[in-house]
Amino acid sequence: MKKYNEFSLIEKIKKDFSFQNKNIIGIGDDCAFLKKEKNLIITTDTLVENKHFIFEKTDFFLLGKKSLSVNLSDIAAMGGIPLYFLLTLGIPPYMEDSFIEKFLDGLKECAIEYKTKLIGGDCVASNNFFVSITLLGKTLKKPILRSNAKINDYIYTTGKIGDSSFGLSILLNEEEKKCFKDENYFVKKHLNPTPRIKLMKKLSGKYKINSAIDISDGLLGDLIHIAEESKCGFEIFIDKIPISKEKISNFQEKELEYILKAISGGEDYEIIFTSPDIIKEKEITNIGRITDSGFKLFYKDKELALSNIKNKSFIHF
Ligand code: ADP
Ligand code: MG
Repeated sequence: MKKYNEFSLIEKIKKDFSFQNKNIIGIGDDCAFLKKEKNLIITTDTLVENKHFIFEKTDFFLLGKKSLSVNLSDIAAMGGIPLYFLLTLGIPPYMEDSFIEKFLDGLKECAIEYKTKLIGGDCVASNNFFVSITLLGKTLKKPILRSNAKINDYIYTTGKIGDSSFGLSILLNEEEKKCFKDENYFVKKHLNPTPRIKLMKKLSGKYKINSAIDISDGLLGDLIHIAEESKCGFEIFIDKIPISKEKISNFQEKELEYILKAISGGEDYEIIFTSPDIIKEKEITNIGRITDSGFKLFYKDKELALSNIKNKSFIHF
């Protein structure tokens, strides 16, 4: 039997390699932070064929963009700006040059948009295609951590939640198409997420943001990360969560089902953040409050038992 899942393996590694240095934030947040190196932040993310995408169904231009976007999203969650990146490619024997070229074109477009420069990497032969990017950036102020949420902070999310997981269901099952009015919108949100660098830069300049995380595993699971790391609780009103209702055919009939799928789906690459400030801005929604303990979900003023929610977040293995 296998002993480790994704989270317990990270815990083991964290324990085995633990060290104390007040100028370094290591394992546990969206990026590592090195204060003494001019507020350097570092993150890495990998996309693997058949785990994160299916070769035959993939637009390699968009995959190139996404491979950098998911890393940019971690930089956004720390309130940072990107600087330089390293690119590692695993190339399978069946991959034609034209696919590699499309991938690199997409990656380059994203790198230009976010003003980050490729400074190195590695190319290896592999049974499947994979891409791993390590991105360096810096914070202009103090980094925004997962572990600094304060009791009574408002909980906010950027953008729309669930678009990406609805898009993935459409890609995996043709039948799902009929549930959605604009299937291309959802598929595009899954294949081409927008990293929230610009929005977070604007917000962190204007408001006091105590904590943040980007949503890679699902809003609920990632909010639990903030609460656990900050040693506090939360209450959220899940009918306030921004969902693209008007683009879903039978939303009214299955409202709760769609909301639960949206908050446990993952790959939104929106940012959940907490702040003592009342923030009324385009693309920002208040979904609840930080409390001293307990994870509470309310739907139409009734509390939902968390134990009834099957998939709190996406776990990779
Ligand atoms: P994210 O979704 O923001 O990329 P992850 O869930 O992948 O974050 O990882 C959580 C934390 O664990 C991060 O701080 C990451 O750097 C760290 N981590 C994940 N895998 C490893 C590993 N193999 N070795 C060391 N640290 C790791
Ligand atoms: Mg992250």
